[in-house]
Amino acid sequence: MHPYFQICSRLREASEKAEAVSKPMFRTIEEIQRYNQQKMLAAFNRAGVSESHFVGSTGYGYGDRGREVLDEVYAYALGAEDALVRHNFVSGTHALTVALFGILRPGDKMLCVTGTPYDTIQGVIGIEGREEKGSLKEFGISYEQVDLLPDGTPDYEEIERRISPEYKMIYLQRSRGYSLRPSLFVSDIEKIAGIAKRKAPQSIVMVDNCYGEFVEKEEPTQHGADLMAGSLIKNPGGGVAPTGGYLAGRKELVELCSYRLTTPGTGREIGCTLGNNRELFLGAFHAPHVTGEAVKTAVFAAALFSELGFAVTPTPQELRTDIIQAVLLKSREALVSFCRGIQKGAPVDSFVAPEPSPMPGYDSDVIMAAGAFTLGASIELSADAPLREPFAVWMQGGLNYHSGQLGVLLAAQEMYENGLIA
Ligand SMILES: *Cc1c(COP(=O)(O)O)cnc(C)c1O
Repeated sequence: MHPYFQICSRLREASEKAEAVSKPMFRTIEEIQRYNQQKMLAAFNRAGVSESHFVGSTGYGYGDRGREVLDEVYAYALGAEDALVRHNFVSGTHALTVALFGILRPGDKMLCVTGTPYDTIQGVIGIEGREEKGSLKEFGISYEQVDLLPDGTPDYEEIERRISPEYKMIYLQRSRGYSLRPSLFVSDIEKIAGIAKRKAPQSIVMVDNCYGEFVEKEEPTQHGADLMAGSLIKNPGGGVAPTGGYLAGRKELVELCSYRLTTPGTGREIGCTLGNNRELFLGAFHAPHVTGEAVKTAVFAAALFSELGFAVTPTPQELRTDIIQAVLLKSREALVSFCRGIQKGAPVDSFVAPEPSPMPGYDSDVIMAAGAFTLGASIELSADAPLREPFAVWMQGGLNYHSGQLGVLLAAQEMYENGLIA
C-alpha cells in the first residue's frame, strides 16, 4: 500500500479476504474482457480504421468518413446490423428519446415489460404524474406497463398474457438503475423477445441498454432485440468519450431514428464531428477493458462490504450484466461517510466533501460522490444515494481496478473513522 493512503489494519485484512473471495469472479470477468477486447479489435480491423478518420469536420459535416466508420465499428462490436454513434446525443436519455420518437407514431402503443422505467424516461413517455412538455403522450402515443414480480424479476406469465399485436413497441430496461431489482441478463431479454415475436410478430423490441454494454460477451441485439440505446459516458465510451450516445439495431430502424436525430431527408448524412472522432474511436477501443475494470471494482466492493457485515446486491458470487453495485448501509451517517470516502478516492476534486441536498424528482435528499474527468460520467468511480430507507448506496465505475479498489477502501475507511464499522 502506498504510504500516502492510510487504511487501518482491520480494513487491510478485510480487503485481503475480499480479494480472495473475488478471485473466481475476477477470472470470469477477465475472460469476458479478453473476448470483448478481441471483438473490438476485430471491429477496428474490419472497418479499416485509419488516422485519416480522426480528422474533424465542420459545418454540415457531409461525407465525414470518420463518422461513418465509427458507426461500423460500434455496429460490429455490439453485434448489430447498424449503429448510429454521435457526440450530438447529449445523454443516454436523449439517445433513448430519439429512438422512441424515431419509431413511434400518433396512435401507437408501447408496452414496458420491466416495471417502471428509469426516472428520466418516465417524463419522456409522459407516465401519469410525470408528464413533461413534449412527451410521447402529448403526441398521442400511449403507454402501458407490466409490473415486475415482488422479487423484482420479470413476470413472464403476465408478459405472455399482455403482449398482443396492438403494441407497436415492447420496451425493456436491462439495468436495475437505482432500484434494488436484479438486472436483466441478455438471456432474460432473449426470452422476452421470443414471447414478443411469437405473440406480436410485427412489434419492435427496444432495450434501454445503459450500464450493460460489454459486461457480457453478447448484446441484446444479438438475441432478439430490434433496437437498443445507451450513453457514451457510461460503458461504451471507455472513459474517454467526452459526451455522446448510440443507437444500434436493425438497419431500417436505425435509419428511421436518424431522421429524428437530424431531419427527415438528411438523417445520418449530416452532422459535423468537430474534433471528436479520435476520442470516440479511442474510447470505443478501451470500452471492453474499462467496463471489465468497473465490474471488478463492483465485485470487490460487494465482497468487502459483505465481509464487513452489510447486505449487498449483487453478491460477489453472482454473475453480472451491468456495472452497478448496491450496498445497504443501514444509516444516513453511513451513506454520507461512504460517499465522502469515495470522493477521496477520485483523481479529480478529491478534496471536496459531498453534502446531501434536495434533487428535483426525489422526495428525499440525495448525496452524490464523483470526481471525474468527464462531468457526470458514471463509468468513472461514483456513488449516489437517496437519504431514505433502506439507506442503500449505488456505486459504479472505476477506470481501472487498482484505483477503483482504493476508492472502495477509502469509503470503508471513512466509515471506520466515524465509528460506523465495527
Ligand atoms: C443512465 C441511465 C439512463 C439515462 O442516461 P443519462 O445519460 O443519465 O440521461 C437511462 N436508463 C438507465 C437504466 C440508465 O442507467
